[in-house]
Amino acid sequence: MKPYWWWTQEQKDFYDEVGEFMKSVAKEEAKARYTREWPYKIFEEIGKRGYIGAAVPKEYGGLGLGCTGSVMLAEQMFKYCPGIGYMTVGNMNGGLRQILENGTEEQKAKFLPKIASGEPGAVAITEVTAGTDTMGIALRAEKKDGGYVLNGRKRFIVGAGIAKNYFIYAVTSTDPEMVKKRKHLSAFMVCKDEVEGIVTERINEILGFEYIQNGSLIFDNVEIPEFCRIGNEGDGFKIMMQGLNYERTNIAGQIVGMQEMLLNYTVPYAQRRIQFGKPTMDISQNQDKVSHMIARLKFVRDATYVTAKQWDLDENITVDASVIKGYGIQFLLQSANEATQLMGGDGVNNFYPIKNIFEIAKTNHIAGGTIEACDLTIFRQQIKNYPEDFVWPRRVIDKEVGLPVVDYSPVEKKVACTAENMLNVLAEDYKINQGLHMTIADLQDYIEGTDEEIVAVIKELAASGDALVHANRKTGEPVMVRATYDGLSKAHPNEYYQWWPQHIAKDSNRF
Ligand SMILES: Cc1cc2nc3c(=O)[nH]c(=O)nc-3n(C[C@H](O)[C@H](O)[C@H](O)COP(=O)(O)OP(=O)(O)OC[C@H]3O[C@@H](n4cnc5c(N)ncnc54)[C@H](O)[C@@H]3O)c2cc1C
Repeated sequence: MKPYWWWTQEQKDFYDEVGEFMKSVAKEEAKARYTREWPYKIFEEIGKRGYIGAAVPKEYGGLGLGCTGSVMLAEQMFKYCPGIGYMTVGNMNGGLRQILENGTEEQKAKFLPKIASGEPGAVAITEVTAGTDTMGIALRAEKKDGGYVLNGRKRFIVGAGIAKNYFIYAVTSTDPEMVKKRKHLSAFMVCKDEVEGIVTERINEILGFEYIQNGSLIFDNVEIPEFCRIGNEGDGFKIMMQGLNYERTNIAGQIVGMQEMLLNYTVPYAQRRIQFGKPTMDISQNQDKVSHMIARLKFVRDATYVTAKQWDLDENITVDASVIKGYGIQFLLQSANEATQLMGGDGVNNFYPIKNIFEIAKTNHIAGGTIEACDLTIFRQQIKNYPEDFVWPRRVIDKEVGLPVVDYSPVEKKVACTAENMLNVLAEDYKINQGLHMTIADLQDYIEGTDEEIVAVIKELAASGDALVHANRKTGEPVMVRATYDGLSKAHPNEYYQWWPQHIAKDSNRF
């Protein structure tokens, strides 16, 4: 696929090199799908080549290629060998960002070279009581002799059993106030070889996971030094969100690679499959499927590399990461669905990789945060962080066309904050936004007054039965208001509220 204009020469070379390497091991990887054995040799070679350190800064033994580099790695791995990518992208990359942003110099010096050298790792968030609701984490980290003792369990962990390093989240406070403030969790990096008591509880059989281990872990009195805590006590939730944003960006890289693989198989296949005396690629329905697949790939690839670049520029990508993961994965499942259809019986046969991508696409609707969790992040964060994107303009009834039209100019003269004036404003708004309440800020576009003054008059109108109030559930204070029918009648006679478009006014039969 084409390089983007902002890629450095080093990044372009890396992209090409990883692609060539993945092609060279693709045969071994494909065999592992049948034997279902974890291909240690390939993973070790990837580690030796330093690829997993793509995003680790050079001073810590990495390649210093930023998030762009790790997304490149994800794309190229999943384009040729989807399974292998799971261990690198889903896991240790998931711990990298947390340490980079929150670790001390000593912690970075110890842990980042491990990641860069390809030591298998895992990120352990999920528990029986903590799925989408990560606040339900119950694994305890209790202070003891200047360190911590970990007790509890984790589940659904990619790399369980194989991983040498676990980036985990645990409870360090049970104070209800801290829980309410989401300050009860802390993050820890634990090297398995340096401690006792990390036990694999079970290994799952998961859709699309042919040789990747996913399982549950028991932490049984695991003693760790304070040095293992990343960030401050209570920072666990914040650190987890940083990690998930990074993981989602890299999952989007996987999605790009798998979309490419779908096209690499389906198009040549349909060019060679003859039905009704012609290649199935000549059938327009099949061409439509391919064009949909190309379009989805382009959307996701462009958005993913732009997000990666934003990471590298230190911009806030919380919403972007959830968009590219949450929607990218739905695109991938749609494309995998069309690809399997396009290949008929061969599309659902283990002997082509299309079936596996179909399965991974479904599984990734859940892993890395469900599509619903991504939607929650998109909704909450975009509205919270970019309120200017959700400001609607004032509208007025235009005298010429007789219709409500947008008017960006400010109100020429605001009126004093009295019950009569407010009722008039509510009556005017009824003409334009018949079914809506007005917020206090909406009223302040027309009325001179502080929040408190406006609220006092709203209460006055409500008491006289001229206004209907929507109150804040917790405080009971008015936050929005509209005129009642009585209020409307008090403000103006019925004729005042009549309006219709001029083209209707011309036709007297309508009245
Ligand atoms: C293949 C795979 C790999 C994984 N790898 C890891 C890993 O390496 N490390 C790790 O820590 N975890 C991992 N997980 C766990 C994964 O992050 C969780 O499975 C996921 O967050 C969902 O949690 P749950 O399965 O408990 O579903 P639940 O949270 O029980 O959700 C069930 C359904 O309800 C929906 N739902 C829940 N709450 C809401 C809400 N508030 N609003 C709307 N919808 C909601 C969910 O979207 C989902 O559809 C992995 C999971 C899978 C399947």
